[in-house]
Amino acid sequence: MGECAICRRHGPALPTERHHLVPENRKQSPVIEVCTPCHKQLHALFTNEELREAFDTAEALRDADRMASYLSWIQTTKKRDIQVRTSENVCERQ
Ligand SMILES: [Zn+2]
Ligand SMILES: [Zn+2]
Repeated sequence: MGECAICRRHGPALPTERHHLVPENRKQSPVIEVCTPCHKQLHALFTNEELREAFDTAEALRDADRMASYLSWIQTTKKRDIQVRTSENVCERQ
């Protein structure tokens, strides 16, 4: 069962990934479990340097101003089980 450390959505169908809190030091970095859209979003909004210097905990990421509008959107969406296509380039067989 996956649970996202940032948006706090959870469920068996929630796809989650590991996010390294210190991106440039993956071996020693603590990891948190985050859902795919949160993971994409946080890497789009923060540079590795910002993540390392200021946003190195799940709480800091959750409370970041930049994440606020995204989080309020994803937490209110009724579509909790987000289907992620593994590949959009593969043609479905008829
Ligand atoms: Zn999430
Ligand atoms: Zn990450």
